[in-house]
This record gives sequence, C-alpha cells and structure tokens, in this order.
Amino acid sequence: KSWVQCGTSMKILSALKRHSYEKPTPIQAQAIPAIMSGRDLIGIAKTGSGKTIAFLLPMYRHIMDQRPLEEAEGPIAVIMTPTRELALQITKECKKFSKPLNLRVVCVYGGTGISEQVQPLPADRMFDMGFEPQVMRIMDNVRPDRQTVMFSATFPRAMEALARRILSKPIEVQV
Ligand code: AMP
Repeated sequence: KSWVQCGTSMKILSALKRHSYEKPTPIQAQAIPAIMSGRDLIGIAKTGSGKTIAFLLPMYRHIMDQRPLEEAEGPIAVIMTPTRELALQITKECKKFSKPLNLRVVCVYGGTGISEQVQPLPADRMFDMGFEPQVMRIMDNVRPDRQTVMFSATFPRAMEALARRILSKPIEVQV
C-alpha cells in the first residue's frame, strides 16, 4: 500500500516525504484505512513498528474534516499515554504534521514525571500502572459518539475488559 492508497492528503503527504517516510509500515497499511473508515480499533504491534503514525494520520484527517468547528471548546482529539517520556515522543511526531496543517498541539503531564522516578517502561503499561480511573474519567467527559483507538505492544487479558468498556465494536489489527 502507498500513502495515497491510505487516503493521505497532499499536505500530510509532503510532510511524510520531508521526513523520509517513504511508504506505510505493515501496521500503518492495515490500521490507517480501518481507522479512516470511522471504526474503533485495537492495534497490536511491537515498539518501533510505526504505531504513532498509524493513529496520527487518521487523527489529522479527522481534525481537518472538523475544521469549521475549530473554535469549539476543548481539543478535537486527545492522545493518552502512560508516561511523560512517551507523551513527549508522540508530541514530537505530532509536530511534524501540525505545523504544515497549522494546528496546535499541547502536551500535558503531571507534576512529577513517572519516567523520572522509575526505569523507562514499555509503552503499553497504561492499565498496569493504575491509570485506569484517570482514563475512565477522561472517557466519561468525551462525547459518547467519539471514535476511539487503542494501540499496544501486547494485549493481556486484563486489558480486554477495559477495551470492551472504552471501544465500540473494534476492528482488531495485529502484525
Ligand atoms: P513508533 O513505532 O511509532 O515509535 O515508530 C518508530 C520509528 O519509526 C519512529 O522513529 C518513526 O519516526 C519511524 N517511522 C514511523 N513510520 C515510518 C514509515 N512509514 N517509514 C519510515 N519510518 C517510520
């Protein structure tokens, strides 16, 4: 699959080229069209497989489609991560596209970074780390007809029940 086959706009396409993202990785090729179709999704792929772009491109497409609502209160899209380190890493990736699209990205985290207190953790520990109540609290404040996607390196049984609460009839993609 090419970026164009993934439904990528011209501005995103030139940003991808500028950063030498020549073609979609396997998780991107599978997840991007599925997310762009509007479905919820669970994506399981290991670290370094290109998961970030897999949810960022559909997110930007959605934001651009919502553009007349730009002045609406609050963000159009929210990304949650278990560590500050990962939040900063994703923000950096976001900015590659937000600049040409003229959109704002804000990275928000708590006072003391967990990543500074413990060894860097794998990216898929959101629920093991006890963030479930916070995740649910945010979810309760997002419109119910939201689109939700969840990416993880692993999908342990404990995460399944949570995925069922957060996602609606998700497509599952595993590479
Ligand atoms: P991630 O798995 O999202 O952490 O991405 C791992 C690395 O691959 C990051 O440095 C990305 O910038 C890079 N990357 C993501 N997608 C592509 C792509 N399609 N082509 C080349 N590099 C990519």
